Amino acid sequence: MASSRTLGTFRLPPLPTIREIIKLFRLQAVKQLSQNFLLDLRLTDKIVRKAGNLTNAYVYEVGPGPGGITRSILNAGVAELLVVEKDSRFIPGLQMLSDAAPGKLRIIHGDVLTFKIERAFPESLKRQWEDDPPNVHIIGNLPFSVSTPLIIKWLENVSQRNGPFAYGRTRMMLTFQKEVAERLTATTGSKQRSRLSIMAQYLCNVQHILTIPGQAFVPKPEVDSAVVHFTPLTRPRIEQPFKLVEKVVQNAFQFRRKYCHRGLGMLFPEARRLESTGKLLELADVDPTLRPTQLTVSHFKSLCDVYRKMCDEDPHLFAYNFREELRQKSEKRG
Ligand code: SAM
Repeated sequence: MASSRTLGTFRLPPLPTIREIIKLFRLQAVKQLSQNFLLDLRLTDKIVRKAGNLTNAYVYEVGPGPGGITRSILNAGVAELLVVEKDSRFIPGLQMLSDAAPGKLRIIHGDVLTFKIERAFPESLKRQWEDDPPNVHIIGNLPFSVSTPLIIKWLENVSQRNGPFAYGRTRMMLTFQKEVAERLTATTGSKQRSRLSIMAQYLCNVQHILTIPGQAFVPKPEVDSAVVHFTPLTRPRIEQPFKLVEKVVQNAFQFRRKYCHRGLGMLFPEARRLESTGKLLELADVDPTLRPTQLTVSHFKSLCDVYRKMCDEDPHLFAYNFREELRQKSEKRG
């Protein structure tokens, strides 16, 4: 086994098909958990190849389910694959895979939203942030309800260089609803440009690498999916705390069809909204009549840098929330 680890030549022995595994362990998809499975191993091989060379890599797979992608990862010659699955029904099927790949597959029955991957792999894998990415990869096809909050959490981890990014610039390859993938990768001026585009692109090189039609899944979901690859940048394109960037971006896209000054104005208390928004846009050198979708990451960098200065000058500003101000006003009126 030690030699197959170094040479990366491991192949799984013949096994029951994923369809047979589903029958054998009665793994019918649970609709409430948005479970849709990939049964075609040629497709899972194609997806896994898109993650790059996985020879001797340490891979963290989120939501392995009946194990289609898991098999393709094991066949890619990895040193170790750690899978985290929430639904206990899948554990016996995964155990069968683990027996077929001795010493390579570690199974955790848990939740990806709370699992701490930063201590799971050897310390020796850690790289300096500026170095090439470590040989650690995240791969997953999660339900859409989990993948979107998870990517926001992981982007915050990228900005703080902790969680999965304690190893360095760990690469991720995740499946999203096609529409979400388009938002993550949308360029300036496109219809899909949104909060997610800026949050992902200021921290990572983001690539939409594959569209998977709904009919590739069992049961077939109502929408198509897409696989997105993320490589954290050596230097974020905005050098401000994640929560500050998130606040500026969220406000800017508040009224996505209006001029950007409308949403950005919501960063400031009503009494001085006009004046403060004017100052923000002037100092950041951003045209107030651009639509939020027309703002580049570099526009957001200037806006965040100026807003940061304004927050430093007024310690109450960052905590300001226009919804809270509206609520208090309506309470007074009531
Ligand atoms: N990867 C498999 C495939 O492509 O066929 C299964 C995909 S299915 C869309 C999503 C899987 O993620 C299911 O097995 C589900 O039980 C699991 N899952 C959902 N939420 C999870 C969570 N919070 N933590 C870990 N696994 C989760």
